[in-house]
Amino acid sequence: MDNLRFDAISRIRDNHINHLTQPVNKVTEIFNSNVFTLAVARQFLSDEAYKSLVASIKSGKKIERNVGDQIAGGMRAWAESKSVTHFSHWFQPLNGLSAEKHDSFFTLKNDGTPIEEFEGNSLIQQEPDASSFPSGGLRATFEARGYTAWDPSSPAFIVDTTEGKTLCIPTIFVSYTGESLDTKTPLLKSIAALDKAAVDVCQYFDKNINSVTPTLGWEQEFFVVDSGLYNARPDLQLTGKTVIGHAPAKGQQLEDHYFGAIPERVYAFMRDYEKECYLLGIPLRTRHNEVAPSQFECAPIYEEMNLAVDHNTLLMDVMARVARRHKLTVLFHEKPFAGINGSGKHNNWSISTDTGINLLAPGRTPKTNLMFLTFFVNIIKAVHHYSDLIRASIATAGNEYRLGANEAPPAIVSIFIGKYLTDTLLEIEKRVGLNFDEQDEAILKLDIYKSIPELMLDNTDRNRTSPFAFTGNKFEFRAVGSSANCAIPMTVLNTVVADTLRSFKTEVDAIIENGDKKEIAIMQVLQRYIVESKTILFEGDGYSSGWEKEAAKRGLVNIKSAPVALGAYVSNKSKELFERNRVFASHELEARYEIMLEAYIKRVQIEARVLGDLITTMVLPSAIKYQNILLENINALKSADLSHIAYKAQREIAEKISYHINILSEKVESMIEARKKANKIAQPHKQAIAYAEEVKNKHFDIIRYHADKLELIVDDQFWTLPKYREILFMR
Ligand code: ADP
Ligand code: MG
Repeated sequence: MDNLRFDAISRIRDNHINHLTQPVNKVTEIFNSNVFTLAVARQFLSDEAYKSLVASIKSGKKIERNVGDQIAGGMRAWAESKSVTHFSHWFQPLNGLSAEKHDSFFTLKNDGTPIEEFEGNSLIQQEPDASSFPSGGLRATFEARGYTAWDPSSPAFIVDTTEGKTLCIPTIFVSYTGESLDTKTPLLKSIAALDKAAVDVCQYFDKNINSVTPTLGWEQEFFVVDSGLYNARPDLQLTGKTVIGHAPAKGQQLEDHYFGAIPERVYAFMRDYEKECYLLGIPLRTRHNEVAPSQFECAPIYEEMNLAVDHNTLLMDVMARVARRHKLTVLFHEKPFAGINGSGKHNNWSISTDTGINLLAPGRTPKTNLMFLTFFVNIIKAVHHYSDLIRASIATAGNEYRLGANEAPPAIVSIFIGKYLTDTLLEIEKRVGLNFDEQDEAILKLDIYKSIPELMLDNTDRNRTSPFAFTGNKFEFRAVGSSANCAIPMTVLNTVVADTLRSFKTEVDAIIENGDKKEIAIMQVLQRYIVESKTILFEGDGYSSGWEKEAAKRGLVNIKSAPVALGAYVSNKSKELFERNRVFASHELEARYEIMLEAYIKRVQIEARVLGDLITTMVLPSAIKYQNILLENINALKSADLSHIAYKAQREIAEKISYHINILSEKVESMIEARKKANKIAQPHKQAIAYAEEVKNKHFDIIRYHADKLELIVDDQFWTLPKYREILFMR
């Protein structure tokens, strides 16, 4: 019988590793080999060109045209020494992927002489044929096309695929009238805003600090499945997740997967992609099994944020590509399997100074302690005041399956800081109404750093349920989805913190002008911030139902629906915030909002179609075939004159099948109707909500329920879709 499922299963064995890449002996020997680092630049560029490149990296200084030619020439010489034939601008448009447009170094001179060249112009600016990237109507309104522009702060790199080697230039992607069409442009702007605001505040404590940069260490979770099985599941192919499928008898109850031995095939795959990552300068450090079967995680050493974001995007590209060689498929979806843990991407975020200080590492002297406390409290205030935006920054169709479900960070935005720091803040708060006088400086002498070991213990042992947690020397934004481009939540976080720091400075300065001592002024403002924001602090179990009630009492944001959450991007408060910090103009926010809603609509639409198709063309036919066998059997027993007891069970099963078939056909019909209705709605916002409520919420779970019931009844031989146990326990 023609059954893709059995085909795929029988082929798993052939998919075993047939080639192993040479294991990496020493990472340091290959690290950065495919990156145009400053050390390489030094070697391939003239003094003038090198200095100009460094200045542009350090302070955004413009590169002159003739110097641009020199840098491009140096890059080409380096690339050609590594047999590279093409170059490409590499950017991250709003569809959440990376994009490239390859050009050859090869060209013809006017007289027809063939030459290889790479001019400064081609390095600095390109016009990709980008009409198919989402622009939320921006390009249509303002300009027909956008252009990509070189971002010297992220080094060029060589991508080596079986098709050839390409020199990739990290770029931003903007319209001719300056609107950003990608995720990098606003990220860079938010980094600049944070730099300025944080340096100004640092000046209270340390005059030597001249620049500040956010750092990011992401932790990428993902599932790995056999490609044969993947290809036999249209839902995985088209949506990255399964839309039906009964949980396996053995799920993650045993938790024997966590930190367990990594299966051999996946291990070979990991070694392979890690090697490629090292060549590209991605400093991967850890790898382990996650909670769910076939789920894994990898994390690098943290980096300056712009680079860390590029590296995460690059990692996802590399993983998808390398997996193919191993006949494996990586799933970055937030919730590929119902009833099994979903995938996230913790964003570990901190800020560090050009003097080498991590501003979120509690200091050992009263002065550095107060600096830590200042940033710490300002961040809490920022996340509290803009919690709806923080929530919006992680709202996607995929993450909607995860947030608020009982195994992922809740959709409620709260902050975990550990007992000791909570007590410290409450200690400061208690002094409300009293003025800080010189004696109160005792508070500055709190040995906060001593609490860190305790905090780490608290955090690793007990509280993993918080969406936003302080973990000793950084905040960990845990609610980010596994498929997200980190730039999106990081842009929001940088901006809200920058804005809060700026108003903090204004308030402190005003008090100082009135004649108060600097430290007293700072403590007064911090004290007020603590009072205003403490409702967001939560140390308990974020998965408990009690917390939902408590959070509601506290007036905290708890929005489960992604399209509703996205609305926060276009509130007046947000528009003013982003304009004030020069990150987005209002109309850019409107455009982005529309793009995100459209993405949501499309995702739910495709899922609904796939679900309908699977039920109609695979589930129902399998059920009917099995039912026919039951009926034949009943008829045979009847004609053999057996009593009805003999076919009682068969009849019951046949009836059950009919029951599920009827509901399924009816619900699939009604889902199609709901889609047709939703398609007629013109406003993206209303359409997205109709898709969420009428198409998804009213149909997906109920259809899935009945399909999964059938999966448990129907003869395994007739079932055409690979089952969870096969996909998840693949070896
Ligand atoms: P977990 O227990 O959550 O796995 P780890 O201690 O392994 O946490 O660290 C998680 C991530 O945090 C790593 O990627 C690490 O590089 C990153 N990290 C550590 N310090 C900082 C920092 N100052 N800024 C940003 N990220 C950091
Ligand atoms: Mg973590």
